[in-house]
Amino acid sequence: MMSIQERDKKVIWHPFTHLTKAPLPISIVRGEGVYLIDEKGDKYIDAMASWWVNIHGHSHPYLAKKISEQLSTLEHAIFSGFTHEPAVKLAERLLEKLPSNQSKIFYSDNGSTSVEVALKMAFQYWSNIGLPKTKVIAFENAYHGDTFGGMSVGARNAFNSPFTKLLFDVIHIPIPTKANEQFIVNQFNEVVKNNDIAAFVFEPLVQGAGGMLMYSEKALDELIGLCNTHKIITIADEVMTGFGRTGKFFASDYLKNNPDIFCLSKGLTGGVMPLGVTTCAEFIYEAFLSDDKMKTFFHGHSYTANPTSCSAALASLELFDIEKTFLNIARIEKQHAIFYEKIKNHPQLLDIRKLGTIIAFEIKTREHTHYLNSLSEKISTFFISKKIILRPLGNVIYILPPYCITDNQLQEVYEAIETFLDELNEN
Ligand SMILES: *Cc1c(COP(=O)(O)O)cnc(C)c1O
Repeated sequence: MMSIQERDKKVIWHPFTHLTKAPLPISIVRGEGVYLIDEKGDKYIDAMASWWVNIHGHSHPYLAKKISEQLSTLEHAIFSGFTHEPAVKLAERLLEKLPSNQSKIFYSDNGSTSVEVALKMAFQYWSNIGLPKTKVIAFENAYHGDTFGGMSVGARNAFNSPFTKLLFDVIHIPIPTKANEQFIVNQFNEVVKNNDIAAFVFEPLVQGAGGMLMYSEKALDELIGLCNTHKIITIADEVMTGFGRTGKFFASDYLKNNPDIFCLSKGLTGGVMPLGVTTCAEFIYEAFLSDDKMKTFFHGHSYTANPTSCSAALASLELFDIEKTFLNIARIEKQHAIFYEKIKNHPQLLDIRKLGTIIAFEIKTREHTHYLNSLSEKISTFFISKKIILRPLGNVIYILPPYCITDNQLQEVYEAIETFLDELNEN
């Protein structure tokens, strides 16, 4: 009999995977709390929350129950001309959590589409009010998804180089750091002075795929303030940072100025079902309120507002209360802080950063390439041998765990990281 891995190889093309060099994928048969369990019964700590989506742990019985109830009541229905309670209730719940300027929820089905929707809303806003603008400002090293809009506003790098000519022009500026903050604000002022910018899109406080790069809320607040002055639509891509990742419910909760649009996905359903959400302030919605049919937002996906996904999101939000999830988040923050102090002077570390439940270790390397760094495979292989799932971003190892991870499990991950760094020392 062929193994699942062998059958996989015959028929499947995996994402972000080198087709000749990547090791065979590990076949997962079960999930349980912080663990993913393979065919042989080996248990792996999912220290990166299965690509940053998992919140309450795998195969959570409460989520399974709620989703199963929804599945046997209404699994899916067309969302144009029709509606259903899970979508309405979730919109109500999300608006309670979001800053008070947010007024409408638009559904799609993943993070990239939530960004596409945000960009299209912003461009069409300007078109609808008769002041068409198409210029966008984004940060260097940004990641906003793999669709063409998402790639356009994202960093130009090895991942999208075959498509460079097809991407729309975007003004990329460096993220503000302590050293360059005033320079960035000045540069921003220069870019916006002609009043021809449609939108500014950013990952608030943490750039995930860019290498868990972190920057201060103070500078971002200033940039959003400038956008408000110049009537530029601000888009907070909270696809990764939402749902407690950074220690607050949304990373934007650290800000004084509210973004106009939010993009949500990943942790939205607790990491159980695909769902995307784009939310907007009332003034944007109002630009589409017109008797003129041409001002309609002609965008939608077959699975828009899928009731099963919405029920997963609702159940995940309930779990935040039932399980006092923010106590776990605070506990993880505290553990990270202790390990930070312990490891910060390690000779193999170039930098170490943390915010909320995220901690990232940038390893010294002679190579300049970030994403395709050869350390990356070595890191993945090492941690798999320790039964820990940690796939680095180039030379950056990071922990971004499900919030149910215990102190002991965290300790296991920290120790493995320390061992890895020590072994680098010896070689
Ligand atoms: C993952 C991610 C996306 C893309 O989401 P997908 O669901 O993978 O399409 C967009 N923006 C940010 C900030 C992300 O981290």
